[in-house]
Amino acid sequence: MKSPAFEYMRAESVLDAMAAYAGMDGDAVYLAGGHSVMPAMALRLQAPSLMIDLANIEALTGVSLQDGWLRIGAMTRHVQAMTNPLIATHAPLFAAAAPFVAHPAIRNRGTLGGSLAHADPASEFPAAAVAMRAELEIASQTGTRRVPADAFFRDIYETAIEPGEILQAIYVPNPVAGQMIGFDEIARRRGDYAMVGVAVQVVSVENTMTDVSIALFSVGNKPTRAVGAQAALIGRALDGASISAAQAALGDDLDPSDDPQFPASMRVHLARVLLGRVLANLKAVA
Ligand SMILES: Cc1cc2nc3c(=O)[nH]c(=O)nc-3n(C[C@H](O)[C@H](O)[C@H](O)COP(=O)(O)OP(=O)(O)OC[C@H]3O[C@@H](n4cnc5c(N)ncnc54)[C@H](O)[C@@H]3O)c2cc1C
Repeated sequence: MKSPAFEYMRAESVLDAMAAYAGMDGDAVYLAGGHSVMPAMALRLQAPSLMIDLANIEALTGVSLQDGWLRIGAMTRHVQAMTNPLIATHAPLFAAAAPFVAHPAIRNRGTLGGSLAHADPASEFPAAAVAMRAELEIASQTGTRRVPADAFFRDIYETAIEPGEILQAIYVPNPVAGQMIGFDEIARRRGDYAMVGVAVQVVSVENTMTDVSIALFSVGNKPTRAVGAQAALIGRALDGASISAAQAALGDDLDPSDDPQFPASMRVHLARVLLGRVLANLKAVA
């Protein structure tokens, strides 16, 4: 099915894009990679009169180190998460998540900012952002603000971005000594959206976990922080006993709905299996 007719403009700056959006009284949409917005329009879920392309806006591009953070421009493509050396070392969960996102054609066009702004609860990058404690920089017509990933994702397809605002960049804190990461998902076929997925970041100093950050996806309406599982690991060595404790605690962290395909209890079971697997195979990054 083809999308309804729309006008197209290529914005040259963030302010330019926001002014065009404001001029349409909300009857506009931003275009990043187009791999979520175009299918939505083809299905008539959206029918904006104006599409504002963000591809020419320099402020939304680039990957650089800034004051203890890695700044990743919102228009950075999925494929760059797999190939950029700064992302590999300073935002390693994005690099680990990218190969699980769809297929090469989608990864060549899809953007990190588009994925986070779209906030599909089955998406890999939002959970990676939560686990890395990233902050999302949002531009409005009055200035910019940074929102922690935990607060950015509000509900299914709903974020802290207000109508007309633009996600400018993703900031990831630099890794610290003893930091390890792990990422995995269970999907019916490689490239499909996950039935359950897990992103983990752990700091272990002298065999004791001093910081644990776990986010799951496809288990609720947004990336889900596993508060109980995190608490079960803090202050302990990473071994079979602590991993079992985290798996047990996970039951209280999750409250998935029943799915026509399989029941909520099965999703919790798969999340436990996956968390155990990821914790047993963490990789050092710093
Ligand atoms: C066949 C197929 C399979 C897929 N499989 C997966 C998968 O397994 N996992 C996965 O995570 N994704 C998957 N996707 C989605 C893909 O990753 C999308 O590209 C991504 O979700 C959205 O990124 P985009 O750059 O294409 O955004 P777009 O589609 O251009 O935009 C998505 C939404 O975000 C808004 N937006 C975009 N950028 C900004 C910004 N900077 N500021 C404010 N709003 C913005 C747009 O207005 C739109 O509402 C799949 C897509 C397809 C077509």
